[in-house]
Amino acid sequence: MNNLIDGKEISQKIKDELKQKIAKIDKKPCLAVILIGDNPASHIYVKNKEIACEYTGIKSKKYQLLKDTSENEVLDLIETLNNDKEVNGILVQLPLPKHIDEKKVLLKIDVSKDVDGFHPYNIGLLSTGNAILNPCTPFGCIQLLKRSGVNLEGKSCVIIGRSNIVGKPLGMMLLNESATVTTTHSRTKNLPEITKQADIIIVAIGKAGFLTGDMIKKGAVIIDVGINRDNTGNICGDVDFKSCLEKAELITPVPGGVGPMTIAMLMNNCLTAYEIQNKI
Ligand code: NAP
Repeated sequence: MNNLIDGKEISQKIKDELKQKIAKIDKKPCLAVILIGDNPASHIYVKNKEIACEYTGIKSKKYQLLKDTSENEVLDLIETLNNDKEVNGILVQLPLPKHIDEKKVLLKIDVSKDVDGFHPYNIGLLSTGNAILNPCTPFGCIQLLKRSGVNLEGKSCVIIGRSNIVGKPLGMMLLNESATVTTTHSRTKNLPEITKQADIIIVAIGKAGFLTGDMIKKGAVIIDVGINRDNTGNICGDVDFKSCLEKAELITPVPGGVGPMTIAMLMNNCLTAYEIQNKI
């Protein structure tokens, strides 16, 4: 299938490029990861981040906190890490237990160490076209498109989903690349009429097989951010892969598309944070 965008291969290339750059640094960049509670998926994500750190040469420190840790204790730990010159990036694994306010936690992280790119200051920089630390998943989508040779300038891009971690920042990134952007959501009317006009469609809603071949035009580029389980328990995306594959010029698979890019862009952000802090 030569119309597949291979996220595994592209993310590996990015990690290899980072590994080469980091090998030349004497004092290695360091990522601190805070994990609260025992959500099994979060443990897997954190483990994968540790593996990627080890591969690229980034030091990682894990702070495993009990699920009943108070909000103040978490904020105090972030304060300590903000002031720790050895730590270049801070990541608080989401979701948080219900008694901890996510907004307060994200606001507490020093903007130069905000490797997830979720701090309102960094989102503000992104919206004015001056981003330094970009949210990892949408940043990964942009890299997938660019590194697959897709020219974004003037293209009609339709995003399905308007979350703060994917849809909204992705819209700003595409706009910064001079694409013409339409962001759609659950209350959008006549969605198929909109998607049928699009050169590029990025789906991030969390509904298995939502985007079907009859909703896209021939030659469209399709990026599938979704991670769902199908009725046999296998991981699948938000795109009905079979029907879209027949019409798409390029399409990402799930797994092996956007997923591995998110971690590669996190590693990229750790190096960027290190460079900002060391004025490189
Ligand atoms: P989210 O916060 O759950 O938001 C879902 C968005 O989809 C909302 O904006 C919602 O609209 C919209 N939506 C829901 N049903 C819709 C419909 N029928 N038509 C149009 N829009 C609809 O989503 P998220 O956190 O961005 O995650 C989305 C998916 O991406 C999930 O499967 C998640 O697991 C996956 N994901 C993958 C990665 C990765 O690394 N690959 C990273 C992050 C997320 P309203 O705003 O109107 O409710």
